[in-house]
Amino acid sequence: MKPRILLVEDEQSIARFIDLELQHEGFDVVHHSNGRLGLDSAKTEEFDVILLDVMLPELNGIEVCRRIRSFSNVPILLITARDAVLDRVAGLDAGADDYIIKPFAIEELLARVRAALRRTAIEPKEEKKLIFKEIEIDPVAHVVFVNSQTVELTKTEYDLLAYLVEQKNRVLSRDLILENVWGYLADIETNVVDVYIRHLRSKLPTQTAKYIETVRGVGYVMRE
Ligand code: CA
Repeated sequence: MKPRILLVEDEQSIARFIDLELQHEGFDVVHHSNGRLGLDSAKTEEFDVILLDVMLPELNGIEVCRRIRSFSNVPILLITARDAVLDRVAGLDAGADDYIIKPFAIEELLARVRAALRRTAIEPKEEKKLIFKEIEIDPVAHVVFVNSQTVELTKTEYDLLAYLVEQKNRVLSRDLILENVWGYLADIETNVVDVYIRHLRSKLPTQTAKYIETVRGVGYVMRE
């Protein structure tokens, strides 16, 4: 079955271009030109990836993203303007997995879409539980426990935590984290990793969050 992509973009020329390219790559594309219709579509249909422009009529992309996150873990890629740094952070805070900056090369967009699909398709590498101090990760049930209490994480937060625990006591650069958790190499200005580390810390109990150390100028390490 072809992977299904929901594209929410109000600029018709861009939408048509992305639509054609995605179809050419073998995807099924459903396109909507405003946030409200995009959200309705996400509610009623199954998609493998959602491409969401930020500046949309009716309901902006960040709000659409936030609402989709209340019922779905589908990978969401935001499309933002080059100078809209605040949008990117707000978008990631709203639960987007990644963003792409306009204007973009279509190859880059396709690479991001494929990476998002790969991440969804990846089955747990290990069947056995990952344990670090009071953190317990069950890859089969895809559940995280801290002190035997369930912690609700999105797919990306879960993948990030599992990777940090797997690589415990090893200092991980942002590039390495990006490559292993998001599935592609960094472009220089990406701060996806930092935003997601912040999410993760905020969802863990304070004492547990302290194991995720920032290594200034390098990246992060999960350390006892
Ligand atoms: Ca727009």
